[in-house]
Amino acid sequence: MRGSRSAASPGCATTPRVTEHGALLDGLRRELGVDAVLTDPGDRASYETDLLKTRTGRALAVVRPRDTAGVATTVRRCAEIGLPIVPQGGNTGFCQGATPPDDGRAIVLSLERLRAIRSVDPVGSTLVAEAGVTLAEARAAADRRGLQLAIQHGGLSSTVGGNVSTNAGGSNVLRYGMARAQILGLEVVLADGEIWDGLAPLAKDNAGTDLKQFFIGTEGTLGIVTAATLRLFPAARFSATALVAVRSVEDALALLARLRSEAGEALTAAELIPRAGLDLYFAHAGIRHEPFGGVYPWQVLVELASSSRHFNLDAALEEAVGSALEAGEVTDAVQARSDGQRAALWALREGLASAQVATPGNLKNDTAVPIAAIPQFIARATAAVAEIAPAAVPIPFGHLGDGNIHFNVNPPRGADGHAFKAHWPALVTAIDGVATAFGGSIAAEHGLGRTKVAAAARLKSGLDLDLMRRLKRTLDPIGRLNPGVMLTPDDRGRD
Ligand SMILES: Cc1cc2nc3c(=O)[nH]c(=O)nc-3n(C[C@H](O)[C@H](O)[C@H](O)COP(=O)(O)OP(=O)(O)OC[C@H]3O[C@@H](n4cnc5c(N)ncnc54)[C@H](O)[C@@H]3O)c2cc1C
Repeated sequence: MRGSRSAASPGCATTPRVTEHGALLDGLRRELGVDAVLTDPGDRASYETDLLKTRTGRALAVVRPRDTAGVATTVRRCAEIGLPIVPQGGNTGFCQGATPPDDGRAIVLSLERLRAIRSVDPVGSTLVAEAGVTLAEARAAADRRGLQLAIQHGGLSSTVGGNVSTNAGGSNVLRYGMARAQILGLEVVLADGEIWDGLAPLAKDNAGTDLKQFFIGTEGTLGIVTAATLRLFPAARFSATALVAVRSVEDALALLARLRSEAGEALTAAELIPRAGLDLYFAHAGIRHEPFGGVYPWQVLVELASSSRHFNLDAALEEAVGSALEAGEVTDAVQARSDGQRAALWALREGLASAQVATPGNLKNDTAVPIAAIPQFIARATAAVAEIAPAAVPIPFGHLGDGNIHFNVNPPRGADGHAFKAHWPALVTAIDGVATAFGGSIAAEHGLGRTKVAAAARLKSGLDLDLMRRLKRTLDPIGRLNPGVMLTPDDRGRD
């Protein structure tokens, strides 16, 4: 019995599939070029593991078209035989949304070769970039015209498509808003391979549903972004930057309120940095350049910026921080007096993020709470972590002005990072629970990916999930675009 079953089932069940897949890949090689289809395990490897090396999946192949037509061909061919597609940009996301499942049935559709900056319009202040253009390249293209792209964060090798699909944030969101606010138009390949051209650079268009919104922040589950029209701003050539030490998170919020009231819209950044974060950065960088004479529990990196030379930003910042010192909200401050000093202060903030990426076992969270709740959120989440892993090192840091405090946790000093991962599920549940108890979010800027799908299914309202499912069913009826991301695989859009 056993012998006959095993002889029959592989032959009947797998041969047609293998043939079908082989024919698909051969067809794609013919249509897109041989180098567009990677099947060798060595060639696939870097696309199958996420940036943080927390998970490795397996793809049937990695397909790398050169243009929108090639993306459309790939999607159409995959749809014909019901093959799942995992879109991938720079693979710098933190939630495994671009990592394929383990079963080897999906293709990774890499947008990395859609690399053209189609146009920069200095009068309309817009830039049209293809999905695979990196954030660094897009920002540099704007900069060459005296303009700035306000999507700004440490993941410089991330792509335009990835930033659109995750609705990325960064350190200047309190002034410019998230990626969504920078997107005037999109070009998208839909689930059946049709190309939707919505690239018109219009700041105003109320002629019906704003269709591009469906594809922003939906992590490649509703369509494949192939190009974006991005809003540009005059380059903020003038800035004033200070690192300010405070005794408590409450004092950090008092400083934020003071800066908002005194500097108005010139305030572009207010980044919270805990002492543990500075220590981690110093250890990682192998240098110890203490910014202050003393050691303080919290620091806030603040920046004012403007494109106009008619404002004295340094004086405005000095006065605002000076009045905070007089009011006792601030204990110490250093203000940058040169671009070099400004870069050194930002290196503390950006270096802290990179040091965590490089620390084995560092647990990343992307929590947000209403701004006024930040002090209580940090206090309660710290207590919750201490109950689960008493020697672990909380590193709550980030975007004070947006309520987006990444409540990250480092393994105890000297501990095995890999072993520390055993605590991750309990820690994440506890920290997410504290955030949601304050009406917060578990995914402020990085998305749900694969890692937070179960938590979202537990924490989001039934109606929220139902609306997401209805949208999925409408735009991806056969549920082949990034299944298992954002919604659980069972929610992939089928009736
Ligand atoms: C040091 C460092 C600092 C960072 N700081 C920040 C920060 O401050 N703020 C922030 O928001 N992020 C930050 N990130 C995270 C990351 O850079 C962003 O999430 C970024 O938007 C991901 O872009 P990507 O091209 O790497 O996308 P990927 O990681 O390749 O993909 C992310 C998701 O988008 C989907 N996707 C990618 N491209 C497309 C496409 N063309 N069409 C449809 N779906 C697509 C993928 O399937 C996946 O679900 C940081 C990363 C690093 C390494």
